[in-house]
Amino acid sequence: MSTYYSQGVRRRTVVNGSLGLLATVLAGSVAFRFTDLGPVREDSPEEVGTTDAAVDPATTRTPNGWPVLEAGGTRTVEAAGRSLMLRPGPAGLVLAAFVRRFHSEVEPVDRGTLDDWAYARRAVRGASTVWSEHAAGTAVDLNATTHVRGRSGTFSRAGERSVRRLLDDFDDVVGWGADFDTPDEMHFEIAVGPGSKRLERLARQFA
Ligand SMILES: [Zn+2]
Repeated sequence: MSTYYSQGVRRRTVVNGSLGLLATVLAGSVAFRFTDLGPVREDSPEEVGTTDAAVDPATTRTPNGWPVLEAGGTRTVEAAGRSLMLRPGPAGLVLAAFVRRFHSEVEPVDRGTLDDWAYARRAVRGASTVWSEHAAGTAVDLNATTHVRGRSGTFSRAGERSVRRLLDDFDDVVGWGADFDTPDEMHFEIAVGPGSKRLERLARQFA
């Protein structure tokens, strides 16, 4: 990965903790990086590496079929002690409900660092012409510093069982990054497209 923009800097600072900070200090740009330790909740740390400028402007949908949102097109939802920028409508409703249940049934989301993200207008890491589901406000990353991208087994056995039970309860409308080719256990997304009957049925429960 050669191209970072501001989120990349934040990611390294958050994930690598003091080591990253040390590197930052050595790099001699302390003031900028320190201010960057503030809330970064709308940034997903695992899909950085390409700028949205690199995304083909003709492609305005994510792989799951969701239109990409401009900044300001999201709705901020309070869930599990976090403010999450989500897609308005059924997808956002369902994701917010999922986050709340994850928080109460799997593990707390509001502990420690602000490492939980939703909307971010950018491409999938390593795929400069593919929009991330985060760009549509239909994905969240939870406890990102614990459930690091690229690693399997970041949950306990019991934790993983709880996640699977939850995915069942959500009728597989919510997908889990643990099942991706490159595991991404922090990541949950609306796995169906707009107009999905299952999504709409589920959303009616939370409206
Ligand atoms: Zn993600």
